[in-house]
Amino acid sequence: MSTTPVALTLNAGSSSLKFGLYDIAAAPVEMAMGLIENIGKAPRLKVHFGPGRTPVSRDLAATDAADHRSALTTALDLLRAQFPDARASAVGHRVVHGGPGLAEPVVLTPGVMEELRRLSPFAPIHQPHNLAGIDAAMEAFPEALQVACFDTAFHRSHPRVNDIFALPREYYDKGVRRYGFHGLSYDYISGELKRIAPLIHEGRVIVAHLGNGASMCGMIGGRSVASTMGFTALDGLPMGTRTGQIDPGVIFYLVQQEGMSIDEVRQLFYSKSGLLGLSGLSHDMRALEAAGTVEANEAIDYFVFRIRRELGGLAAALGGLDALVFCGGIGENSRLIRERVCEGMGWIGLELDRERNAAGDTVISTDMSRARVMVVPTNEELVIARAARKFLCAQS
Ligand code: ADP
Repeated sequence: MSTTPVALTLNAGSSSLKFGLYDIAAAPVEMAMGLIENIGKAPRLKVHFGPGRTPVSRDLAATDAADHRSALTTALDLLRAQFPDARASAVGHRVVHGGPGLAEPVVLTPGVMEELRRLSPFAPIHQPHNLAGIDAAMEAFPEALQVACFDTAFHRSHPRVNDIFALPREYYDKGVRRYGFHGLSYDYISGELKRIAPLIHEGRVIVAHLGNGASMCGMIGGRSVASTMGFTALDGLPMGTRTGQIDPGVIFYLVQQEGMSIDEVRQLFYSKSGLLGLSGLSHDMRALEAAGTVEANEAIDYFVFRIRRELGGLAAALGGLDALVFCGGIGENSRLIRERVCEGMGWIGLELDRERNAAGDTVISTDMSRARVMVVPTNEELVIARAARKFLCAQS
């Protein structure tokens, strides 16, 4: 049996399970990273490993991933076949909601689980899946330390004025607040900035996490001051299939005049809108960039327009801007979106260097630019693996 301590990371989405395996003898080193998508429908498995092992990418039988529990069993079978000696001594979970109280990762105890179940109504589309993943992992690894890391935690440093809505006060006390999400990604970027650009880290930074889910976060000294997501992960920027910010009056109209049920509106806002809704073609930025249709171009225009608006708003909240950092699938890969976001932004101190942007450099602003523009690949799983290792070390 291997003596190397190993941590498993799990990120259970509504129809997907992302998993990572890390050697955590010292700072976590990735051994495997995989994804089972389309759980319950036509599941597909993709895994890549460190050097010397062939990646796996194949369709699964429906029964291999009928639900999160069977998907986890399938993932574990594959990991065991590749690493027969590895035993997970810790499992780290991504959990969308930690509520107002949880500002750090925690070890999962029955009491914490109860608290997280109480928070399910605040994230009905994500939290129950996260908790199902935890239940399955506790069953599979009864001896392992189980750790939860929260997407909301990084934003608990917000000033109160950012977290309140202009509702009667009792709703805040009931939990109706701006929580903010994508916290694991922002936490990672904050740590990376501290390592590669410590002076920037100390300053006023806006991070644009642009993936299927998209949001922006304003930080000072590496701590979150404001973010574009609010009570749910629906607010702020338009996303692959989510509306982003929308006048709540639209909901009243759809229900009262169009006769839609609340569930239908929810489905419309979460799954049929955003880039997909506007383009009528795809939620995927690569497909939209390639399409060149009027509708696809308009979807891109709206995405860029809203990022630029939020950039101005967040810079005002920070009292200025020292750096803009792009991350996420679009932020890290789309030179077009980065270029369009930064176009004519000299007034806020941003001057993009087109060649650096095209080359995919880390710093893509000109040497003269007052504020720096950077591309920093994010790694949410590594944040989870680090937390698992920290608790494991504290225990031994
Ligand atoms: P998730 O929120 O699911 O983690 P990702 O961060 O993986 O999403 O981002 C997925 C998005 O990134 C998709 O819209 C995809 O089209 C986009 N993307 C990935 N590579 C590129 C690229 N080279 N150019 C433009 N967009 C890209």
